Amino acid sequence: MDLDYSTAELAFRAEVRDWLGGHAPPPLPPMDTADGFAAHRAWEAELAGARLSVVSWPEEYGGRGASLIDWLIFEEEYWAAGCPARVTQNGIFLLGPSLLRHGTPEQREHWLPRMARGDDVWAQAWSEPEAGSDLAALTSRAEPCEGGWRLYGHKTWSSRAAFATHGFGLFRTSGARHRGLTYFMFPMTDVAVRPIAQLDGLPGFAELRFDGVFTPESMVLGEVGQGWRIAMATTSSERGLTLRSPGRFLATADRLVELAGDADPVLADRAARCRVEAEAYQLHTFGTARRIMAGEEIGSAASLGKIFWSELDLRMHALALELLGDRAEDWLDGFLFSLAGPIYAGTNEIQRSIVAERVLGLPR
Ligand SMILES: Cc1cc2nc3c(=O)[nH]c(=O)nc-3n(C[C@H](O)[C@H](O)[C@H](O)COP(=O)(O)OP(=O)(O)OC[C@H]3O[C@@H](n4cnc5c(N)ncnc54)[C@H](O)[C@@H]3O)c2cc1C
Repeated sequence: MDLDYSTAELAFRAEVRDWLGGHAPPPLPPMDTADGFAAHRAWEAELAGARLSVVSWPEEYGGRGASLIDWLIFEEEYWAAGCPARVTQNGIFLLGPSLLRHGTPEQREHWLPRMARGDDVWAQAWSEPEAGSDLAALTSRAEPCEGGWRLYGHKTWSSRAAFATHGFGLFRTSGARHRGLTYFMFPMTDVAVRPIAQLDGLPGFAELRFDGVFTPESMVLGEVGQGWRIAMATTSSERGLTLRSPGRFLATADRLVELAGDADPVLADRAARCRVEAEAYQLHTFGTARRIMAGEEIGSAASLGKIFWSELDLRMHALALELLGDRAEDWLDGFLFSLAGPIYAGTNEIQRSIVAERVLGLPR
């Protein structure tokens, strides 16, 4: 396997580094506040203006038609430059890839460029009070009506939904368990939104109530009844590749190694190990990207990456706190968020079962 970057990839890296060097914003207010949300959207529009918000998407949707390798390079430069977490991440990393694959030409043409510019910010409305890990147990439903569908039910833990303009989620249109689920997009206009504070006290989540919310026929993604299949493709992107690129963890590991510079050699060694693990995840992900580019599916193996990055992130932030003690303010938000890594995008207990049963073929 050739591990060297091509001349074009090196030129792309230099272009991204140069642009971010001149444009990376100062730390923005948290995106879970109205001001922060607006500031993050403005940053998304600036990125899109340089055609850097979704580099691997086709040009007609605001991308550059770049390869997944270029996307990974972009991500490394993005996080190394200290740029903010992406307020559009549910759209561009989760719904976007599903729309590209399962959307109609009209849906793609309408929604993808808007998503790329941050005009619309999407919330993922999957979890329900009694259906988190066991997502197929969801009870929210959709009923057909003149021109579209009416949505009923109760969703929870929806990130950024306190401010998002649109949502996407699964609703039951017939049948039991994973049969008879349909993938809907919907405007947030008529959804009753109740913000839920996270550990930092900010409204990072929301609970959503649907009492006959109308969504037009044109906002069904894929065929009616095929929602589970599309959702599983979304989770594969989420866990395996797009939601958390290695660039994010490499940047954290670099900060950690710097922090540990003059520390106790045992702690410095632990920091160095984290750097090596971040690099191992980088190499693993480059392999995954190459396989996808060759037409393979990631499938259940995506769960391996999710377990690895979430536990590494937690270890790195815990070590930073150990190194800094009560001076750890700069790392505190990251630490609190790293606590959620083993839970969101499917808990690590469930991911371990998936790896055991579907990747290793162990008995149930
Ligand atoms: C920061 C954050 C952001 C999130 N963002 C979103 C979002 O935007 N949209 C959205 O829809 N959801 C979101 N979620 C919700 C998340 O997907 C769920 O919390 C997760 O799927 C777990 O579901 P649950 O909370 O219902 O826990 P439960 O399913 O009730 O599980 C509770 C515990 O039991 C364990 N458990 C359950 N079943 C099994 C089993 N069969 N074997 C072994 N252990 C088991 C779980 O692993 C977990 O530790 C977010 C969560 C967090 C923390």
